[in-house]
Amino acid sequence: MQIINPATQEVLDTIVPDTQASIHQKFEAAKAAQTAWYARPFEERLACIQRFYEALALQEDTLAATLTAEVGKPLTEARNEIKGARLRIAWFLQHSTAALAPETVTPNGPTQEHLTYEPLGVIANISAWNYPYLVGVNVFIPALIAGNAVLYKPSEYATLTGLHIARLLHEAGVPPAIFALVAGNGQAGQALLQVPCNGYFFTGSYATGQRIAQAVAGRMVPCQLELGGKDPLYVMDDVADITATAAAVLEGFMYNAGQSCCAVERVYVQRPVYEAFMEALVQQAAAIKQGNPLLPTTQLGPLCRPGQVAFLQQQVKQALAMGAQIAYQGATLPPPGYYFPLTILTQVHHGMQVMTEESFGPLIGIQVVDTDAEAVSLMQDTPYGLTAAVYGSNPQRARQILEAMHTGTVYFNCCDRVSPALPWSGRGHSGMGSTLGLAGIKAFVQPKAWHWRV
Ligand code: NAD
Repeated sequence: MQIINPATQEVLDTIVPDTQASIHQKFEAAKAAQTAWYARPFEERLACIQRFYEALALQEDTLAATLTAEVGKPLTEARNEIKGARLRIAWFLQHSTAALAPETVTPNGPTQEHLTYEPLGVIANISAWNYPYLVGVNVFIPALIAGNAVLYKPSEYATLTGLHIARLLHEAGVPPAIFALVAGNGQAGQALLQVPCNGYFFTGSYATGQRIAQAVAGRMVPCQLELGGKDPLYVMDDVADITATAAAVLEGFMYNAGQSCCAVERVYVQRPVYEAFMEALVQQAAAIKQGNPLLPTTQLGPLCRPGQVAFLQQQVKQALAMGAQIAYQGATLPPPGYYFPLTILTQVHHGMQVMTEESFGPLIGIQVVDTDAEAVSLMQDTPYGLTAAVYGSNPQRARQILEAMHTGTVYFNCCDRVSPALPWSGRGHSGMGSTLGLAGIKAFVQPKAWHWRV
């Protein structure tokens, strides 16, 4: 399996993918080792994760360079991702002890009642490439702390980063059998689904998530899916600072070249502020520098996957054919990089794919609305349910709108952010189950209820 640099199409490395037989061996080794891992004192497992946390900082230069080389994100964003992953690990280190401590629910009476939390066993973690550190630590850190073994399949587009993660965890004291990397593409993922894990934790697209849910449905083990989105953002007519709002929208749809699950994917602007908003947005978009992701001045790199440029071109073509207009488009950079120019479309509607299908690129459609009711109806017109954002100056008005959203996360005067302290969850086609927050620690254990008469 060749690892290709999306900015240059240079072959970075060649990897031998796992087979059904090698995955089976890794599963058996993980199963055999898991009991001893769980039997270790809790503090010992925390100490391993603490060492991993420290190694991420010490080796940030190397790790960021690898991440940029294989997924194409600007080097500053690669560094930010590693720093963000460390913040999440720090949160888990701080909160896991209390969250997993045994509880006495009924201390007195003829029957005392206690609660303990046990690991699931061996879990499969099939991961995405767009934030391999962030979506990775959401799963494998709480899983390892709780005493699980992890079969970790990084995306085929982030394999070198996956290998760094495995190396650093092993150097930090996590036994190789307890954190085992499964290399390969979707075929390796499918093979991983054949081994009888005690839980399946997936981050990726709705299409793959649906296949995974179907494949493991009969096993009666947890299956968590963190999937895509078509996240709306609504700018209300009472918005206080239109320039700052335009800046937030711009960053929300182009950070990581728009390849974020919670990227702003469509925008609704109330008519009285539409012109001022568009003027500010286009002016700021024109200042964005696209190019070589290794340069410190670059804000927008190439896309990660080769087919994505044609996919976005097709969304734009369809929208234009149906009456959309280009309010702004950056210069098109020539191959070999998988570059797509920053593109802002207006005169859009929900008959167009750009307003209904996940774009996953630096492309946005902006639609004018007249009332909150119209905005709510359009924001809700999606099978996805990851996040929704409102910008304005009236919290009561925003609350009413956001309460109506069928999404796992809502934002007022912010967007495209994730906090380790809050559960991260999707509804509908955006998935099921939560990572992060206390719910994201408990996702990797099963409760045992003790009815105790002495
Ligand atoms: P993808 O579905 O193409 O691949 C994800 C993983 O699944 C990869 O490791 C891949 O090798 C594996 N895979 C592919 N086919 C498989 C199969 N049949 N069986 C088992 N495994 C298989 O997704 P992607 O392109 O890596 O990631 C982008 C998607 O992920 C976007 O839709 C994005 O919104 C979503 N995402 C969601 C979150 C979230 O937290 N909700 C976070 C990041 C990304």
